[in-house]
Amino acid sequence: MLKIYNTLTKKKEQFKPINEGKVSLYTCGPTVYDFVHLGNFKSYLTADILRRYLEYSGYEVRHIKNITDVGHLTEDDIAQGDSGEDKIAQKALSEKKTPKEVADFYEEYFKAAEKKLNILPAHYFPRATAHIPQMIKIIEKLLEKGLAYEKNGNVFFDVTKFPEYGKLSGNTLKNLKVGARLEEHPDKKNPWDFALWLKAPKVHLMKFSSPWSLGYPGWHIECTAMSLEYLGETIDIHTGGEDNIFPHHEAEIAQSESYTGQKFVNFWVHTRFLLVDGEKMSKSKHNFYKLEDVLGKGFSPMELRLALLSSQHCNQLNFSWNLLSQSRANLESINDFYTQLFAYEPKIEEAKLANFTLDAYKQEFTAAMDDDLNTPKALAVILKLVSDGNKMMAEKLLGNPAEVKLLLEDFAQVLGLILEKREIPEEIKQLAEERKKVRENKDFASSDDLRQKIEKLGYLVEDSKDGEYIIKKK
Ligand code: AMP
Ligand code: ZN
Repeated sequence: MLKIYNTLTKKKEQFKPINEGKVSLYTCGPTVYDFVHLGNFKSYLTADILRRYLEYSGYEVRHIKNITDVGHLTEDDIAQGDSGEDKIAQKALSEKKTPKEVADFYEEYFKAAEKKLNILPAHYFPRATAHIPQMIKIIEKLLEKGLAYEKNGNVFFDVTKFPEYGKLSGNTLKNLKVGARLEEHPDKKNPWDFALWLKAPKVHLMKFSSPWSLGYPGWHIECTAMSLEYLGETIDIHTGGEDNIFPHHEAEIAQSESYTGQKFVNFWVHTRFLLVDGEKMSKSKHNFYKLEDVLGKGFSPMELRLALLSSQHCNQLNFSWNLLSQSRANLESINDFYTQLFAYEPKIEEAKLANFTLDAYKQEFTAAMDDDLNTPKALAVILKLVSDGNKMMAEKLLGNPAEVKLLLEDFAQVLGLILEKREIPEEIKQLAEERKKVRENKDFASSDDLRQKIEKLGYLVEDSKDGEYIIKKK
């Protein structure tokens, strides 16, 4: 049974869905004004692994990932969604494009990159700009209830009217008073009130009509509107990176729960950062790597995927090329083992005696995933299966290769790893056969020459006790 760390309760909790057998999952998706970077992928991979593992455990998951194509301002990380410029509009101006052209381009890029990384596509990717009427409806009701106020065409949520403000992040109004410096919008009553709707300046590129002004929505309201539209009032799981906890998710809770009167989310799952030299990888710090940077260095998307999963989602991870090399080595050994399983023929009689029992691996793998999606531990179980299996294969004692192959495929499916059955080139196979013959004639000098020739071509031959051999990629 899956236990997952819930930011709301600050505990690892047994996962229990609202409706038996079904899970609603919402992921805060990209702001499409720039290329998604490896840090973003660390967060999206958590949602992907969560979904894969829930599906593997028999749940039917409905996954929504929004596309932020309006409203995310350049200072949203430090302010309450009311200062700075719209990130997409700013990019559109600098690239002499329309905001839609900018958003379309980066959304396409994002989807193509997710596909390469074998991240399952969400069932739907709603765009913020297509949900303005839904946002307006929510804002109207919040005004009606006296929980929001309008001034000069701007609408703000009044955080003092939501006593539970701070319950997710610990940033209660009492705590926020201490030492916090915030640029205040002149129309706000309290510094921590956040924007639901802002009147657009004349030069602003993205404007929508509303009862209050020709303007645009605050960043937070879009997720409330889209989560409600596609998943209902209370959802099972909401994911995002650790920087989303405050103010974004705190604001989502305040406005959603005020609007519906219901609990918004049962499980909040936040992925800790991918770092570069100890600092958060981010667009604004210009210290980010894109998928293409990794591919350009000769690494594959699966090697990157494995590298990002080599730390549990609740831990930060420092990005390095060394990390990718390590993942390459691990993936090589997994794929080698997988390839060997196809060609391998056991010595039937002895193999029967030493059957490879798989239950323990399955249990350990499940226990690792159940423990807050502990992907590094799950990977360690796979590597143990590979190493133990290799030993048994070398002795020709592995009696159930088909079963092992199925188990490995199951594990790979949960971690989203695409296994590769390697075809050994004909030339290498011939050289290895030749080498086997000269060895039978005890011509070890020629055998060494042939080994070197094979190695130069990127392969290794490993001899087994019975005079047979295994070919592996170097
Ligand atoms: P953004 O496009 O900036 O809104 O980010 C999209 C998602 O990626 C959000 O859930 C962020 O919290 C997450 N994110 C951004 N940077 C990182 C990072 N360095 N490590 C992990 N997640 C990140
Ligand atoms: Zn969001």
